[in-house]
Amino acid sequence: MPLYAHVDQDACIACGLCQMLAPALFDYDENGIASYRPDHNTGSLALSAQQLQAFKLAYQRCPTGAITRGQQPFAPTRPHA
Ligand code: SF4
Repeated sequence: MPLYAHVDQDACIACGLCQMLAPALFDYDENGIASYRPDHNTGSLALSAQQLQAFKLAYQRCPTGAITRGQQPFAPTRPHA
């Protein structure tokens, strides 16, 4: 079953842990806020089998739960009404 990833950037505290644990999967903006690198944090590209182990480590260790995952692609972010 495919797995998609996304960083909730409102919940990210810029600790740097995910990039340390999975540098191929996580990138940062100028303020240290993380994003999921392979699909530019759109949640549209399924993880490959080779990426799963590193992803799970970062997912489990993120101190704020900002790294999210789902079995469907994430919907595009909509502005708040
Ligand atoms: S581990 Fe979590 S809180 Fe830390 S930089 Fe990554 S997404 Fe942000």
